[in-house]
Amino acid sequence: MPELPEVESLRRYLVREGLVGSTITSVKLETKPESPGGTGTIIGANNANGQTITNITRRGKQLALELNDFALGVHMGMTGQLHFLLPEEPEPRFTRALFTLNSGTRLALIDPRRWAKLQRFDSSAEAFDGLGPDALDDRLTADDFAGRFDKRTGQIKQLLLNQQLIAGIGNIYADESFHRVKISPARRANTISESKLKSLHKAVRESLEHALEFILNNPDEFGRPYIVDAYDDRMQLHRKLGSFCPRCEIPLVTKKFGGRTAYFCTSCQK
Ligand SMILES: [Zn+2]
Repeated sequence: MPELPEVESLRRYLVREGLVGSTITSVKLETKPESPGGTGTIIGANNANGQTITNITRRGKQLALELNDFALGVHMGMTGQLHFLLPEEPEPRFTRALFTLNSGTRLALIDPRRWAKLQRFDSSAEAFDGLGPDALDDRLTADDFAGRFDKRTGQIKQLLLNQQLIAGIGNIYADESFHRVKISPARRANTISESKLKSLHKAVRESLEHALEFILNNPDEFGRPYIVDAYDDRMQLHRKLGSFCPRCEIPLVTKKFGGRTAYFCTSCQK
């Protein structure tokens, strides 16, 4: 699932390719926007005709295209991608929405599993409603970060994935951060010392920044961010069966927390 680094690299790609300042001249939405297999929704996007994109902002995993009169929230779900199409490129399979811009360029929302959400909001603030501060926001200090967790009795893994507390951290970068700072995902947050929680904040920032840099340096052949599969060199922790702790060289274990599988080392993560 695209997490903060993947969505931020996507935002930068959209800016780099000139989306800000472009006017939407036509919107084509798939006629069957929802399927039983997914929770994806496309709501109100057809009213974007004639609107100019004035800014592209992000909080956590949520993107907002700010338009003249409203904002379009874009959440990539599990498999969503936003791609500018080449001039003669046929519409890709699984295109759920196709925007044509005044330059003639087309922007496609492609999503095989239909979990992506494209939704009209009155403003970008409304699109971000309910989300905590962005995990890479410089205004989120180590003290603030620790203060969001240190009184809570829940397991740190589930708390770190709670987008209302901090936005942008998903399963993969949470596991990566816990490993870097030697915390077990099963630890109750209120049993972790303040200094350890501050170290976790630093580890979260470092793993997200490292991943962002990796993605920016490894675009696909058309310069598009390669965002779906995160099981590669951007991680110290290799999330597959039979992989080893890079510190202890013993097999990692897996355990489910709230339906999400954690990979961790029972020797160095306490
Ligand atoms: Zn270990």
